[in-house]
Amino acid sequence: MLAGRLQILSLLSRCARLRCPVCGRSSIFQAPFRVRQHCPSCSSLFKREEGFFVGSVMVNAVATESAALVVYFACLYAVGYREDLILIVALPLTLILPVLFYHHSWSVWLGLDYVFEGLPKYEEPGAG
Ligand SMILES: [Zn+2]
Repeated sequence: MLAGRLQILSLLSRCARLRCPVCGRSSIFQAPFRVRQHCPSCSSLFKREEGFFVGSVMVNAVATESAALVVYFACLYAVGYREDLILIVALPLTLILPVLFYHHSWSVWLGLDYVFEGLPKYEEPGAG
């Protein structure tokens, strides 16, 4: 039980720091907004197939919509039902948050994929 908790905490820590979910030694990004093909330390594949990025888009959309909903209800509580004021706060949030959360949405998606399926290893083209 304790080992399972430590593994979950370790995985969450790696996700928060944008590190490889398998080994935690390397960043999953080679540059801002550019995901590596695979981990240079353990060869875990980060981009496994065409369309794999859709999972990170889904994570990003859910996070953005959840944040917008929280802000919406906070605004309702703070200023009442004033659509003009709520739009001034919520609209920029829904435009900016997906960009700000891009890296972590990839990290969360890779962490979820690692937990449920495991990340395959990268093989050099022509090898094997
Ligand atoms: Zn790794």
